[in-house]
Amino acid sequence: MNSLTVSTSKDLENILNHLDAVVYVSDIDTYELLYMNQYAIANIAGEADFTRIKGKRCYQVLQKNQSGPCSFCTNGKLPDNGDSYVWEFKNTRNNRWYQCHDRLITWHDNRLVRLEVAADITERKEAEEALQHAQEQLKWLADTDGLTHLYNRRAFYKNAEKLRLSLPTNTLLGLVLLDIDYFKKVNDTYGHEAGDKVLEAIGFTLKTFTSETTIVARTGGEEFAIFLPIKSKKNAKAFAQQIRGAIGKIRVPYYKDVLSCTASAGMSTGYTSIQISSLMRDADRALYRAKASGRDSLCEG
Ligand code: GH3
Ligand code: MG
Ligand code: MG
Repeated sequence: MNSLTVSTSKDLENILNHLDAVVYVSDIDTYELLYMNQYAIANIAGEADFTRIKGKRCYQVLQKNQSGPCSFCTNGKLPDNGDSYVWEFKNTRNNRWYQCHDRLITWHDNRLVRLEVAADITERKEAEEALQHAQEQLKWLADTDGLTHLYNRRAFYKNAEKLRLSLPTNTLLGLVLLDIDYFKKVNDTYGHEAGDKVLEAIGFTLKTFTSETTIVARTGGEEFAIFLPIKSKKNAKAFAQQIRGAIGKIRVPYYKDVLSCTASAGMSTGYTSIQISSLMRDADRALYRAKASGRDSLCEG
C-alpha cells in the first residue's frame, strides 16, 4: 500500500466519520455489520467505536430488542440496477426519524452488500405531525358544536349526505328532528348557565345513539337532528320515541333544583334518492304539527 492510498482511505474515513448522516454496510445474507461511520456508532449504536460492534448483525446494533432480521428490512427491495431504495423510518433505538437511502454495492471481496446512508429528518417529521394534528383539530372544530360536542348543522348535512350516498339504492331512510319544549322557560327561570347544562346533558344522551350509520347533530339552539337507514316506518317511529323517552328521563341537578325537559319530534322518511334537505323540510313540518298539537309528542311527515 503506498502512502497516497493510505492517506486517501484515511481521508475518506475522516470524511465519512464527520458526515451528519448514518452510513453503514452490512452483508445481505448474514446481516453482519461490515462498516459503520462514527455518526451511526455514536447516535444509534451508542458505542464509542466499531471494535465493540464488529462481528454483530445489523439488527442487533441498529434496532432495539431485535433478535432476528427486522420485519421492515429492505434487503429484498433493493434494486439490482444500482439505484437506491428510499424510505422513511423511526429508529427503534433512539426514536429518531431517518430518511434512508439503501442500495446494493459490490464489496471488495466481490459479494453484494447493503449500503445505507440515512439523514435525520426528525424535526421535519415532528413539524409534519404537528401540522397534521392542527389540521385534524381545525376540522374537528369546524364540524363540532362547542357545547354538546355533537356534529353542528353543517357537519350534519355533510355526513348525512355521505352516508346516504354510501347506502345501497332503495334503502329506506329516516330523519328525526327534535326541539326541546318551552326551553326559553328554563333560561328565564334558572338562567342561561342552567340552560347550557341541560343542553349539554341532552348532547351526552344523544351521543349514545351515534354510530357509523346514525348521524346525530345539534342543528340549532335547542334543536337536534338524527339521520339513519331504517327497516320500516314503524321501526323509525319506535326509534324516535325511544330518543324522546331518553331526553325526558334526563335529570340535571342545578343548585337546589333538578331540571328536566321534554322534546317534540318530527319524523320524515324516504328512499336513498331523496335529498337530505327535502327530508329536513318534511321533518320540520311534522315537528311544527307536534308543537301545535300540544308538544311532548311525535308527528310523521
Ligand atoms: P317551543 O316549545 O315552542 O320550542 O318553546 P321554546 O321556548 O323551546 O322555543 P323558543 O324558540 O321560543 O326558544 C328557544 C330558546 O332556546 C331561546 C334561546 O335563548 C334558547 N337557546 C338557544 N340556544 C341556546 C344555548 O346555547 N344555550 C341556552 N342556555 N339557551 C339557548
Ligand atoms: Mg327551537
Ligand atoms: Mg324549543
